[in-house]
Amino acid sequence: MKILIADDSLVSRHLLEATLRKWGYDVAVACDGEEALALLQKDDAPALAILDWMMPGMTGLEVCRRVRVRAREPYTYILLLTSKSQKEDLIEGMEAGADDYITKPFDQHELQVRLRAGTRLVDLQAELLSAREALREQATKDSLTHLWNRSSIFDILCRELARGQRERTPVGVVMVDLDHFKSINDNYGHFAGDAVLCEASRRMQNAIRQYDSIGRYGGEEFLILLTGCDEEASWAQAERLRKQLNQVQMSLQESSVGVSASFGVTTALPGQPWTPEELIHKADEALYLAKRRGRNRVEFLPHGSEPAPVNATVDIETAVR
Ligand code: GH3
Ligand code: MG
Ligand code: MG
Repeated sequence: MKILIADDSLVSRHLLEATLRKWGYDVAVACDGEEALALLQKDDAPALAILDWMMPGMTGLEVCRRVRVRAREPYTYILLLTSKSQKEDLIEGMEAGADDYITKPFDQHELQVRLRAGTRLVDLQAELLSAREALREQATKDSLTHLWNRSSIFDILCRELARGQRERTPVGVVMVDLDHFKSINDNYGHFAGDAVLCEASRRMQNAIRQYDSIGRYGGEEFLILLTGCDEEASWAQAERLRKQLNQVQMSLQESSVGVSASFGVTTALPGQPWTPEELIHKADEALYLAKRRGRNRVEFLPHGSEPAPVNATVDIETAVR
């Protein structure tokens, strides 16, 4: 574990540093309060700090207060090093946000046990943070494909639509469904089907741009949101994804299979009245048109268009104009 020590006295700093290194800690050193605060505000800041109370410029107490104001995560455990031993001083130190204190000149054994208590708290907090992260992952991601789950991608859709309206930019909404997926399950088994779902997810995830989003909407259905894409761009992106997915066969057990998907596309244009549900419904409609027209293709329906009749021949060239 890395510990920051901040002390303006060279002798005291060296003694502390040598002691901590002897105990196996990694040490970062600051000669004053400003330097200590800068180090504690970095992304890879030490989780534990021993700050001398009295330092010219910014005192250890002030560093402590500023660190607490930012309430950064993970938590910084702060031990104040002080020659003050009056009860009121110590209360002031703790109120500034210090976790513990040790009086100068420090007793090695006492410092060791106090550091152990600090380390324990830091470790516990790290465990708590990773448990919270795991819970967040569980609540927002699909456990098989690790894409956004249905409720998350729907939330993202609402957010992107609101942003699109605010910034007057379009949002492409693409519904994707793997073709004849049932036959993969039937021929190769459910586990192979899962592997195909994962590989298809990976290919699409890699093919979208950084600011686009993809989620698993249902069994073998995906919802893709294309930020800033107008009708033509949405269609082109979907076409690119379709090719990407279908280009290379997927290896399954001893053989390989070609996997394709059908894509239904619509767009939310700024200034038009729509709800997220309406857009999904329209993309779904376009998807079923793609299925009816032979699969492994992209169909586009403009938002607000009449429901497509079963034998409709909407073509993208005319639809986007
Ligand atoms: P279409 O081209 O019309 O979409 O045909 P399809 O076979 O893909 O569609 P259908 O709706 O008939 O079948 C979808 C299949 O997807 C049935 C279901 O068992 C399977 N499926 C859904 N979720 C999962 C999953 O998580 N893992 C696996 N292996 N299969 C799944
Ligand atoms: Mg399907
Ligand atoms: Mg389906």
